[in-house]
Amino acid sequence: MNNETVKMRTALVTGANRGIGLAIAKGLSACGNIRVIAAARWAEDAQVVAAGIACGTTGVALDLSDPTDVGERASAIEKRYGPIDILVNNAAILIPGSGLEISPADLAKSLAVNTIAPFALIRALGHGMKVRGWGRIVNISSDWGAFSEGINGPAAYSISKAALNAMTLSFAPILGAAVKINAANPGWVRTRMGGQNATYSPEEGADTPIWLATLPDDGPTGGFFCDRRVVAW
Ligand code: NDP
Repeated sequence: MNNETVKMRTALVTGANRGIGLAIAKGLSACGNIRVIAAARWAEDAQVVAAGIACGTTGVALDLSDPTDVGERASAIEKRYGPIDILVNNAAILIPGSGLEISPADLAKSLAVNTIAPFALIRALGHGMKVRGWGRIVNISSDWGAFSEGINGPAAYSISKAALNAMTLSFAPILGAAVKINAANPGWVRTRMGGQNATYSPEEGADTPIWLATLPDDGPTGGFFCDRRVVAW
């Protein structure tokens, strides 16, 4: 084991109160060298989830519905708890309906939580990662956001995830080689969003995101992954 792998890191996981986000927060905490900041929309949820993960886990309220001040709130979290080395943009909403069924407001709501809030967090935290020379950013995406699959899910959700994929690619060269930014499709996962008939447990869905959040220095950046393998955008 080299010094790099045992260095203490701090990870911020959004939507950590349930589903895949909770499994990612638990999995990162179990790595032993990662202090997790579990972000949830509501402060009470954040406190409950932090208490249930491990000693040293911090819970913070981070509502992503209105992304205008999300960057400022992320900076305030860093000011209070120290530099964030790992960002997992996990929180998302899924509004059902095709492009002819949803309203522009539905698209705006979806873009706010699923795309613009992650953008605000990457902007706020990515600069510090670059300056410190180490960072990992994981954008939890979906096969419904893949052009290679035809963007064929619910319209607002699919469009927001396609934009999240584009953002991943766009940020990679700006952040530089020391900050790995990748998108992960967790697979079809048994959560409130995925439903109980889904293939994967939350822990199985969290596997690729956790792998990307803990990549070694020679790991990939600017890619899209499922089951730890590259998939087409
Ligand atoms: P869940 O619906 O179970 O959980 C979504 C999480 O996002 C919750 O913690 C929720 O918080 C949070 N969230 C939603 N809106 C906001 C907001 N405005 N502010 C802060 N937090 C918010 O979903 P999953 O765990 O299944 O999904 C996690 C990620 O995986 C998402 O990005 C999703 O798109 C992706 N994904 C999931 C798949 C699946 O099959 N489950 C398949 C492909 C991708 P709250 O409890 O307050 O609502």
